Amino acid sequence: MEPPKIWRERREKYLALGVLCHDCKKKNFPITQRCPDCTSGNIEEVKLAQTGKILYFTRVSQTAKEMMFYAPYIVALIELDDRIRVTGQITDTKFEDLTEGMKVRMVFRTLSKNGEEGLIGYGFKFVHI
Ligand SMILES: [Zn+2]
Repeated sequence: MEPPKIWRERREKYLALGVLCHDCKKKNFPITQRCPDCTSGNIEEVKLAQTGKILYFTRVSQTAKEMMFYAPYIVALIELDDRIRVTGQITDTKFEDLTEGMKVRMVFRTLSKNGEEGLIGYGFKFVHI
């Protein structure tokens, strides 16, 4: 991932933040300046739920250069307990042991690495609970 992109997304990736709209009361991810549902600017950054369930998952073997260090890895669509849907890597669990509907918890881990001495990107992944 390019350094400017890591910098732009640091708050939502590092702190797992989304936005809560005070007008329509909906929570969204990623962080936006206006509510994607009602376009209100009356929004506040809020922490996302830390647990959820797997909706779908797949194994990734071929990926971007900075991610090849981790391949193959598992990516899943997760529905957090606050109904927000996010994609994220599943870690510390074998592909064969995963099932749809399985409960997961957010953990903070290394996400990408630009070469041996390059910039390391951190963010959230998910582990089975
Ligand atoms: Zn809204």
